[in-house]
Amino acid sequence: IIIGENIVKSFRKLNEEHNVLNGVSVEINKGEFVSLMGPSGSGKSTLMFALSGMDVVNSGRVIINGKDLATASENELSDIRRKTMGFVFQQPTMLKNLNILDNIILPSVRDNQKNKTEIVKKAKSIMKRVGITGLEDRDITEVSGGQLQRAGICRALMNNPEIIFGDEPTGSLNSQSSQEMMDLFSEINNNCTAVMLVTHDAKVAARTERILFMRDGEIISECRLPKFEAKDMDDRVEEVMVKMR
Ligand code: ATP
Ligand code: MG
Repeated sequence: IIIGENIVKSFRKLNEEHNVLNGVSVEINKGEFVSLMGPSGSGKSTLMFALSGMDVVNSGRVIINGKDLATASENELSDIRRKTMGFVFQQPTMLKNLNILDNIILPSVRDNQKNKTEIVKKAKSIMKRVGITGLEDRDITEVSGGQLQRAGICRALMNNPEIIFGDEPTGSLNSQSSQEMMDLFSEINNNCTAVMLVTHDAKVAARTERILFMRDGEIISECRLPKFEAKDMDDRVEEVMVKMR
């Protein structure tokens, strides 16, 4: 789906350009389940933003489904974002004055105001799929962190994206909720949606099929894991821990 070629991204600090991504090349294939690990500040979030076209790169190319983002118009870019990808963050950004359902449908309704009934129907079916049926009318302060995160995933799934990007989506969850969240990402991935997660947690990365390790703005290594089976969990975590060093 996404090809990154020699991506360089820099930020100005004290009047000097600092490279945060030093020529990263990476390919994310259809239906893949990938994680991105590395120390704080190594450029994980920056790379995710570059690959999703949320951020413009200084040099190198990002190609999404054959389209070089550098040649895409503003309209094409927003179309690509809307139709191809969904985002999940550590803290879902939800509006406090709207209930859970309205938060989930907000972007879809904004894009297509005519079909509100259809949109609500779809939202309810996705809410069922991610296990938060019944919370439609709740205020966002009246649900748990895990439930709010699931609502965020619902919202990300509304457009049937080809890829879901998660920047530490389990970062503020306890270990139990975090594993449940990974069950959900696995299920989403089994339904042919690619998933790319940034994580510091070896247990989270161990659930994916391919791990990219970043350091100082480069992908320094990667490893592939066979398709997840619960009984292999300990060995997988062990393997990830070794590779992380
Ligand atoms: P973490 O694990 O802490 O989230 P990360 O690997 O996601 O870290 P990035 O957020 O990609 O790291 O940041 C990499 C570097 O780029 C950091 O040194 C950061 O300070 C810098 N940086 C990121 N965004 C900006 C920005 N908008 N302006 C200036 N510098 C930035
Ligand atoms: Mg980050």
